[in-house]
Amino acid sequence: MQNITILGSTGSIGVSTLDVIARHHDRYCVYALTANTKVEELALQCAKFRPQVAVVGSAQAAQQLQRLLAEEGVSTEVAYGVEALCAVACAAGCDAVMAAIVGAAGLAPTLAAARAGKKILLANKEALVMSGQLFMDAVAASGAVLMPIDSEHNAIFQCLPLNYQRVPAQCGVAKILLTASGGPFLKRAVETLDAVTPAEAVAHPNWVMGRKISVDSATMMNKGLEVIEAHWLFGAPAAQIDVVIHPQSVIHSMVSYVDGSVLAQMGNPDMRTPIAHALAFPDRILSGVPPIDLAKIGQLQFERPDFDRFPCLKLAYDALRAGGSAPAILNAANEVAVQAFLDGQIGFRMIDRLIARVMDKLPHDTVHDIDAVLEHDRSARAVAHSLMHT
Ligand code: NAD
Ligand code: MG
Repeated sequence: MQNITILGSTGSIGVSTLDVIARHHDRYCVYALTANTKVEELALQCAKFRPQVAVVGSAQAAQQLQRLLAEEGVSTEVAYGVEALCAVACAAGCDAVMAAIVGAAGLAPTLAAARAGKKILLANKEALVMSGQLFMDAVAASGAVLMPIDSEHNAIFQCLPLNYQRVPAQCGVAKILLTASGGPFLKRAVETLDAVTPAEAVAHPNWVMGRKISVDSATMMNKGLEVIEAHWLFGAPAAQIDVVIHPQSVIHSMVSYVDGSVLAQMGNPDMRTPIAHALAFPDRILSGVPPIDLAKIGQLQFERPDFDRFPCLKLAYDALRAGGSAPAILNAANEVAVQAFLDGQIGFRMIDRLIARVMDKLPHDTVHDIDAVLEHDRSARAVAHSLMHT
C-alpha cells in the first residue's frame, strides 16, 4: 500500500489523481490533501478519502474546514500555511507526493519532498523551471524518485530506455520532440490577438486544465516552460529539444534516435493516463481513459512552431540558454503577466512584451541556493508590476 500526499488536490490534476486512486483502493491510500481556498471541495474530498491531514492556505480557511469536517464526523487533522504544506510533503507517513500546486507556490513543498527522498509525481513544472539544478541535486542527494506527470514528459519517459541516466548520447538519443497543440490561437490572425478575452484564452481545444496553464498554452509559454522542464528531467541541451506543433494532441511527445527510429507515445488527451503510469510504474493499471480510436481520428498533422506568433516560446528558449536565474525570472514575470491578463488589467499581447521587458531589465546571475532563487522570483515580480502600466 502506498500513502500519497496530493499537493493541490482541488485543482484539475488533483481531481484527476483522486479519480485514479479511487479505482485502486487496494494499492493507494491518501495521506494528505491540500487546497488554497476551495474549502468546501476539500471537505468533500476528505469525507470520501479520509486523509490523516488536510492543509489549507489561511487560518480562516482552516477554521471553516474544521467546522465542515466536524459536521460530517471526519477526523482528519487540519493545518494551514507553507510550513504545513512542507510537513505533509516530507512526513514519515507519506511515500509519494503528487506535486500539483500551480506556480511558484509549489516550490517549497515540492523541494521538501525531494530533500526527504520521496517518490515525486511532478506536475508543478514551475518549481523545476525555477530551481533547475538545485532541485535535481536535491533529488540525487536524497535518492528521491522523480516521475514526470506533464503529458509530454511522461510520454518522453515512456519512449526512453529504462536505464536512461540523463545523458542522451549514451543511449543513442538524437532529439527530444515535444509536441504542442498550438492552443486556441494557432490559426487566429496575429493582428487580432491583442483583443482576445480571458474566456477565449482559457478555452483550450483539447485539454481541460486550470486557468493559468490554459493561458500559458494560448501563449505557448507552457511549451517554453516544458522545454526547460525537459532539459532538467532528461539532461538534453536546448539544441536537442525541438517543439513540433501537432493540433490533435494524440501523440504526447517523441524521442528521435540516431538510427532513424522515432518513438512516440499516444493516447487520448486525458491526464489520468500519465498519472496512472507514474503512480504504478513499472506496473500498468486502469486509469478510466478509453483507448484511442485511430480510424475515428483519421489524420495526424504536424508543423513547425512560428516564433513570431508565439514570442513566449522564444523567450523561454532564451532563458534556458542564459541559464542561472533567467528561468526563475521568466517564470515569475509570466505568473504576474498571466494573472494581470486574467484580471483584465492587460491585453493578451502584453503578456510576452512584459516578460521580455523584465528579462531585459534584470541581470541573469548564477544561483547557488534556493534563497537566491526566491530573491530573483521576488524582484522579477516587483519589476513586472512596476512596468505593467508603462
Ligand atoms: P489548478 O489551478 O486547477 O489547481 C491548482 C491547485 O493548486 C489547487 O488545488 C489550488 O488550491 C492549489 N493552489 C493554488 N495556489 C496555491 C497557493 N498559493 N498555495 C497552495 N496551494 C495553491 O491547476 P492545474 O491545472 O491542476 O495545474 C497544477 C500544476 O500542474 C501546474 O503547475 C500545471 O502547470 C501542471 N500541469 C497541469 C496539467 C493539466 O492538465 N491541468 C497538465 C500538465 C501540467
Ligand atoms: Mg504538458
